[in-house]
Amino acid sequence: MKVLVATEATQGARGDDYSWATPGELVMFGTVCAADLRGTGRPCGCGRAFAGLHSERATTTAEVVESALTLDDLVLAFRDSLDRGGWLDLAGNPQEVTDVVHEAVMEVLLVADRYPAGTVIGTQLGAQYVRQQAPAR
Ligand SMILES: [Zn+2]
Repeated sequence: MKVLVATEATQGARGDDYSWATPGELVMFGTVCAADLRGTGRPCGCGRAFAGLHSERATTTAEVVESALTLDDLVLAFRDSLDRGGWLDLAGNPQEVTDVVHEAVMEVLLVADRYPAGTVIGTQLGAQYVRQQAPAR
């Protein structure tokens, strides 16, 4: 199945790019703060971010890759990252925690499924766009 990983590809093509995640690590969509959601004041840039699962750092560029990970592997990796970040403390009972993890995984799988492997994408407040087409096979 296809997943999203951090990449340096196309970094700097936009003036507002940043890359603090580790290239190749799994990413998910992070929580977006009120300033970025409203688009008022001084946005911090989280509305353009993919969040690295391992580094817990963000990047504006992600690549769609074919992965050998199983769905269970992904759920474990997402749960571990969300737990380390303290996000699951806010989730409530065990079923709600599981739902939060599954939602984060499904969000990535649904987006990754829309593009051929090798595509570099960006994100803007929940809407994704192609930054670089996948190389022709
Ligand atoms: Zn923000």
